[in-house]
Amino acid sequence: MALNRTPLIAGNWKLNLDHLQAIAFVQKLAWSLGDAKHDFAGVEVAVFPPFTDLRSVQTLVASDKLPIAFGAQDLSAHDSGAYTGEISGAFLAKLECSYVIIGHSERRTLHNETDEVVAAKVQAALRHSLVPIICVGETAEDLETHGPSAVPVAQLRAALAGVNSAADIVVAYEPVWAIGSGQAATPDQAEQVAAALRAVLVELLGDDVAAKTRILYGGSVKAANIAGFMREPNVDGALVGGASLDLDEFASIARFKQHVGL
Ligand code: PEP
Repeated sequence: MALNRTPLIAGNWKLNLDHLQAIAFVQKLAWSLGDAKHDFAGVEVAVFPPFTDLRSVQTLVASDKLPIAFGAQDLSAHDSGAYTGEISGAFLAKLECSYVIIGHSERRTLHNETDEVVAAKVQAALRHSLVPIICVGETAEDLETHGPSAVPVAQLRAALAGVNSAADIVVAYEPVWAIGSGQAATPDQAEQVAAALRAVLVELLGDDVAAKTRILYGGSVKAANIAGFMREPNVDGALVGGASLDLDEFASIARFKQHVGL
């Protein structure tokens, strides 16, 4: 964690919580963090509900002025047209989403999203002033064959094709073998890949963008292990899956500074 970058703790709910559950969850999360005097300006907290929850979350956040950011788990590469079932960046921007997750490993593997599709979705997000959270990460097989950084670095290069140096982006390093497995990477492993990803940002987007871009770690993050990741200089937050559905656990992850005096 570098002092010039605001850490981001992002909860990817995946296919969980309907719109009524989402309202209750976000309300309680804001109360719980508020009661604990969470420094929202110092550590940003964001949730990524299913599409059908977003309007409810937007309305709640706006009406109660909650200091919780939100975004979508995916978007279409297209802005409008005959694309049944797709959701455009324009629609997400209208719902006041700040962020959109792109290229999550579940989209890449279960929905055959290629690097080209990921790059097109990054462009779509940027067209609508949404901050893309670009997910990259290697499988266990990639790790054995190519080492830890090669695949995430190649995925990031591909995702940034056509992105210019004015872009506001977030990168999430999520080793596929660590997602939902209970076996997180070590802080050292996360730092090594995050440093390699930052070097790509320097090369493609320049020093200033690289210095301000947040790189998150994701993969079995819990309250018990977040502090170790946040001590690393190139890790600026976490993309949290399973633990983001447990309110106390997620709030505790967001309050990582309290764990060990960071
Ligand atoms: C994820 O799916 O982005 C993720 C990191 O999941 P988990 O925290 O459950 O490993």
